[in-house]
Amino acid sequence: MSQRSDRSDQSDVLSLDSGLEALRQSSEFRGPVESLEGHGHSNDHFALVYESEAEQFAAAIPFLRQGLERGEKCMYVVEEEDRDEVLAAMRERGIDVDARLESGALTLESVENTYLKGGSFSIDEMTDRYADIIEEATAEYEAFRLVAETGWIVEDDVTIEEFMEYESKVNDVFDGEDAIALCLYDRRHFPAEGICDVVRVHPHLIHDNTVCHNFYYTPPEEFCGPAKPDHEVDRMLGTLQERTEAKTELSDQKRFLQRLNGVTSDPDKSFEAKLQALFELGCEQFDLDLGALNRVDPDADHLEVEHVSGDHDYFQPGVELELSETYCQAAADIEEAASVSDPTEEEFDEITVYEDYGVEAYLGTYVPVEGEADRTLAFVTSRPRTEPFSEQERTSLELMGQWVKYELEHQQYQRELEQTVAKLKQSNDRLKQFAYAASHDLQEPLRMVSSYLQLLENRYADDLDEQAQEYIDFAVDGANRMRAMVGDLLSFSRVERADNEFGPVDCDAVLERVLADHRMQIEERNAEISVGSLPTVSADGEQLEQLFANLVSNAVKYNESAPPRVEIDAEERSDCWEFTVADNGIGIDPDRADQIFEVFKRLHHDEQYPGTGIGLSLCQEIVENHDGDIWVDSEPGNGSTFHVTLAKRAAD
Ligand code: ADP
Repeated sequence: MSQRSDRSDQSDVLSLDSGLEALRQSSEFRGPVESLEGHGHSNDHFALVYESEAEQFAAAIPFLRQGLERGEKCMYVVEEEDRDEVLAAMRERGIDVDARLESGALTLESVENTYLKGGSFSIDEMTDRYADIIEEATAEYEAFRLVAETGWIVEDDVTIEEFMEYESKVNDVFDGEDAIALCLYDRRHFPAEGICDVVRVHPHLIHDNTVCHNFYYTPPEEFCGPAKPDHEVDRMLGTLQERTEAKTELSDQKRFLQRLNGVTSDPDKSFEAKLQALFELGCEQFDLDLGALNRVDPDADHLEVEHVSGDHDYFQPGVELELSETYCQAAADIEEAASVSDPTEEEFDEITVYEDYGVEAYLGTYVPVEGEADRTLAFVTSRPRTEPFSEQERTSLELMGQWVKYELEHQQYQRELEQTVAKLKQSNDRLKQFAYAASHDLQEPLRMVSSYLQLLENRYADDLDEQAQEYIDFAVDGANRMRAMVGDLLSFSRVERADNEFGPVDCDAVLERVLADHRMQIEERNAEISVGSLPTVSADGEQLEQLFANLVSNAVKYNESAPPRVEIDAEERSDCWEFTVADNGIGIDPDRADQIFEVFKRLHHDEQYPGTGIGLSLCQEIVENHDGDIWVDSEPGNGSTFHVTLAKRAAD
């Protein structure tokens, strides 16, 4: 079963964990912070060994600031000559020193008034003093937090043995109280042997922006006792072994991660193939014989084998079992990695997979899958196992499980996405069909409305009074406008539905036809049109003609200059042709330049400039059919330049 180290719940009592958190979250403290988890020696203070003010304050200030923010009583024991510098450092790093001092939440105590009170250092007096300080502080505040300089130890000639005795006593005072401390050791002021002892006696050490669990730590009772050398040797040998094991474990884990990455990131392999490679990797890594991915439903007590590595008498895809008759129940119960290495001992000896299938050991993890059946990823063997599974093995398996989860969810999203795209396409096709049918079928009744209105007008012209005549004119006008709109919509709809017929199109010839078709409009306005040298491109000729017809006709229409001038040109780019149609017309407000490509969107009234608002949407549709783009550069009153790109095709 899963064996996880439980963190004891100390949330009520202020512990070193909170100090670690302060450093972890602080931007001043840059280095790694090792957690206390799993480390046996716990006491309530850190030692900071530093060699510069920057290093000192990078740890001390966040530690203190956190205490103030949490409503604790904070005390900084400082040598008189350092006082101003400490205050300045606090201010610089965002502590509202004056307000905190005034409220009493922060005090700066001198060494003379604490450790050396009464003239010299006395272990018992100081221990009692801290007991009183803590009692008093915690009566009023959330907790007590101490930062203390220690240079006085050297100056007062305190021996390290004395100081150790004090440390162990003062630890008892802090122990179990809402109180933590950070002792500051300035390496520049201590002799090397002194620092060596400081390192030995503090289980939690901060140095050079790093918080470490200290494997040189020697508990006080061992440090001073007669068996000190023996303990020292034990510790050294133990440390050597621990470090070697940790190093090997790390490099094993690294190798495993690299292989896992190799297996799962191969873009040429299918999910099934990757899964088989994953099974192989797991069997090797965990020394087990078979890997399987199962669909599970804990509520229905159901498991179905989905994928399996190799041939097996019992475990085959499609085989269904009661979940509770498998070891996967253990993983499902905790929804994470679980292991069984001794079925009898762990009371799994009455389930089918043990009794009938002969499975002797199991390592499996639960894989919750969003939007789909949950899975278990499991490895088993029919060989009895001598060793229980390690935490590292369970972690490796969980990593594999996470990949499976990601893949299955990704496949699920992909399927949903494809369905949505298919639905969208269907509805888009229906819409196009509708627009086409509507515009096509509307033409006939509209033509009738116009003709009969015309007939009315012609036949009864003499009988109609002025107002009736005016009404009929409005009606004829409306019907004509609607006919123009329906006609344009039909062209738009045709382009939308078109099977584009790409072939070489000589753009010079296209422009010649466009200008001929618009001769009347051009002559009426005395417009000057100049056409640069245009290429032959691979395009749908008819659509290209519609595109230029709209752009040229707009350039003349939305133009008050005399004479209106239009310049058409083209330039070759690496992957496309860029055409420009520039005019000296009325221009467009840049904020509205995107709107003009929308269907029926017009920036002007019909009386001012007649039109249907479809021309540019049609241009956009055509350009999209040619994998291109269309946009306009313009300023009101300064003409407009429409840009059109058409992607080059193999034939260009
Ligand atoms: P229509 O010309 O039928 O109104 P378009 O889709 O061709 O429809 O044009 C949409 C709007 O864009 C026009 O109503 C006009 O306000 C603006 N527009 C188009 N071309 C130009 C141009 N060359 N100069 C200024 N405004 C233009």
